Amino acid sequence: MRARLPLLLSATVLAASTLVSTPAFAWGAQGHRLVARIAETRLDPSARAEVERLLATEAGATLASIAPWADQLRAEDPDLGKRSAGWHYVNMAEDGCRYDPPKHCRDGDCVIEALKAQSARLADRGLSDAERLQALKFVVHLVGDMHQPMHAGYGHDKGGNTYQLQFNERGTNLHSLWDSGMFYALQLDDGQYLQRLQALPAPDGVAAPQLQRDASLWAEQSCGIATREGVYPANRKVGQAYADSWRPVAEAQLRLAGERLAALLNELLDTAPKPR
Ligand SMILES: [Zn+2]
Repeated sequence: MRARLPLLLSATVLAASTLVSTPAFAWGAQGHRLVARIAETRLDPSARAEVERLLATEAGATLASIAPWADQLRAEDPDLGKRSAGWHYVNMAEDGCRYDPPKHCRDGDCVIEALKAQSARLADRGLSDAERLQALKFVVHLVGDMHQPMHAGYGHDKGGNTYQLQFNERGTNLHSLWDSGMFYALQLDDGQYLQRLQALPAPDGVAAPQLQRDASLWAEQSCGIATREGVYPANRKVGQAYADSWRPVAEAQLRLAGERLAALLNELLDTAPKPR
């Protein structure tokens, strides 16, 4: 019993420090919306009908408008926001980007297991429409997060959040630069950016995913980017040259995330009998 108190205290301190030290989640809202819009163009008729039916239960909702929702939960629904705070990322770069669930995802509290769990809820037609719409919001968001390399990177610097640097003479951090800084520098609106992403070569090998295998694979691939030489710049003052090198990589991830999201939704919401 005597050991309980320090344990509880350290858990509380840990939770509190997590709360204050993760200012930025995920792609910025634009990145999330773009992933959703790419997916939207690739839905099968049956998946599209079910997505539209669920979205219609909430006034004005579109796949793009719900995509950043999970990052706004802290204000909208603090309980769910707290409970889902760990669902946006997984830290495994220190371990060579090899996913080890007991180490990297205790209690299912990481983006890989959260995506699997929310996907199962979305596919479960025994749940209410409200529950399945909430699951859809998480699935759209978490597929996006998982493809942001800083969301599958190092734990010691909180996915680049504590790695301060200057981009074009302005103070920021590496996480934020990958979330949005490199994109916003182009000053494109969503429609213009969508065209830019659609013009990229189609990613290879986007097939119907098997999440038990692919959710961890997707995150491991993201982690592989976060650990590439040069992502963490030798000089903490970066500018156009850094953006020119890494923006195409980040953009390819957005495109890939959109394609994979569509393939996942097609799989989860397909009502047609499957060929055997
Ligand atoms: Zn997020």
